[in-house]
Amino acid sequence: MLDHLSFTAPEPRIIAGAKGDWELVIGLEVHAQVASKAKLFSGASTTFGAEPNSNVAFVDAAMPGMLPVINEFCVAQAVRTGLGLKAAINLVSAFDRKNYFYPDLPQGYQISQLYHPIVGEGEVIVDMAPGVARRVRIERIHIEQDAGKSIHDMDPNMSFVDLNRTGVALMEIVSRPDLRGPEEAAAYVAKLRQIMRYLGTCDGNMQNGNLRADVNVSVCPPGAYERYQETQDFGHLGTRCEIKNMNSLRFIQQAIEYEARRQIGILEDGGAIVQETRLYDPDKGETRSMRSKEEAHDYRYFPDPDLPPLEIDQPWVDAIANDMPELPDEKKARFVRDLGLSEYDAGVLTADVENANYFETVAQGRDGKQAANWVINELFGRLNKQGLTVEASPISAAQLGGVIDLIAAGDISGKIAKDLFEILWTEGGDPAEIVETRGMRQVTDMGAIERAVDEIIAANPGQVEKARRNPKLAGWFVGQVLKATGGKANPAAVNQLVAQKLGS
Ligand code: ADP
Ligand code: MG
Repeated sequence: MLDHLSFTAPEPRIIAGAKGDWELVIGLEVHAQVASKAKLFSGASTTFGAEPNSNVAFVDAAMPGMLPVINEFCVAQAVRTGLGLKAAINLVSAFDRKNYFYPDLPQGYQISQLYHPIVGEGEVIVDMAPGVARRVRIERIHIEQDAGKSIHDMDPNMSFVDLNRTGVALMEIVSRPDLRGPEEAAAYVAKLRQIMRYLGTCDGNMQNGNLRADVNVSVCPPGAYERYQETQDFGHLGTRCEIKNMNSLRFIQQAIEYEARRQIGILEDGGAIVQETRLYDPDKGETRSMRSKEEAHDYRYFPDPDLPPLEIDQPWVDAIANDMPELPDEKKARFVRDLGLSEYDAGVLTADVENANYFETVAQGRDGKQAANWVINELFGRLNKQGLTVEASPISAAQLGGVIDLIAAGDISGKIAKDLFEILWTEGGDPAEIVETRGMRQVTDMGAIERAVDEIIAANPGQVEKARRNPKLAGWFVGQVLKATGGKANPAAVNQLVAQKLGS
């Protein structure tokens, strides 16, 4: 299925220190908000941007005596995500309490899955260049509750708490330390986002914090990672620092660059890396310590007595598996194989599920390459320029398909098609109707074209003389005829007639 890809061994980013070369090792914990109308253990709404504290059920506010009830849909979403990452699904998993105090966490603990996650080992294929990909191992996915929000910048003397996000379902997707550079780490997050958007399990909106990553970074001398791979013994790797809560691909890369150099500086000065949690400050472009392992919370994890083990059965998992959409890797491979698209074009068209759907509607029953050209060069080009997504496109897939049909039928030339595109973009309407009512139809009537050719020849005797001696000048006449007919004359017919008349 994916035999068009060549899988390459990870190529580590080498960083030259003052005393020698160093390699980067990165592992990510990605928090993805489950796309679900209701929360993980309550029926409260998850709508973003609602009036503060309006989406809070008694159980979210941890009122005494309230008991959590699992939202089956959120479980299905986690299973769907696991299947999308070719991962093992655990038919029995369990919820644990992770205890800590925070004003926006009324329970005093987060319900999570430490010991028995719902999803086990899987993999993500990360695209590095057209046709070149890399496998990144997934260790696990577990489901857990999100916390609320403390607001400190609304009043000089008071802090506020908004519990709307409290109890919203998250998937934590943990990778193995298989990422070897900043670009790879960003490409990995982008790929996860793409897959989940195809699956409809997370909207991937990083700005709203619906997808955020904790980035673990360490450095080691060349050769150490290979020894880790052979033995899976983390002792071969350097001590890591974890950069919390990154919600931008650009900042993830910048933070890794900075953090690697910071660690190399310490090690080359004879120091040791202290395992700690750090925060990235995008204004200063540096990471700084948030808490060290010594001051780290002791979460006192224990099985949540309010929730029995979560048991799902194989037929239920199979039903989800049978209902999976085509995923980006498979879709891309199909576009290359069946539609003859280049790896690059197929990559552009499948980058986002909405774009892919749009293209597929245009390509349905039409020439794939021509559809790809129009969608990528004209439509996406124009959308990008105006900062619009395909959902906001003024031209629908049906309209663009209509333009391509008119070209294929010989009703309009490629040049007129671009004018038609312009009209559709600004005014809308039915492509075929516009061509009729505005007289844009290509002239294939040989009589009409011949009259135009004759007129140009009659009006330019000097040029005719020159063209008879130098046949290359015939192009000038073709241009004049096309101009005179407003671009509507069929260029092939004009070429043929001009050659005939001049050659005689
Ligand atoms: P914790 O929950 O305490 O953060 P985990 O075992 O869940 O610890 O690991 C968190 C992440 O750190 C994983 O993605 C893992 O791949 C990554 N990781 C572990 N060791 C290293 C290392 N030496 N360098 C970089 N990343 C690492
Ligand atoms: Mg961690």
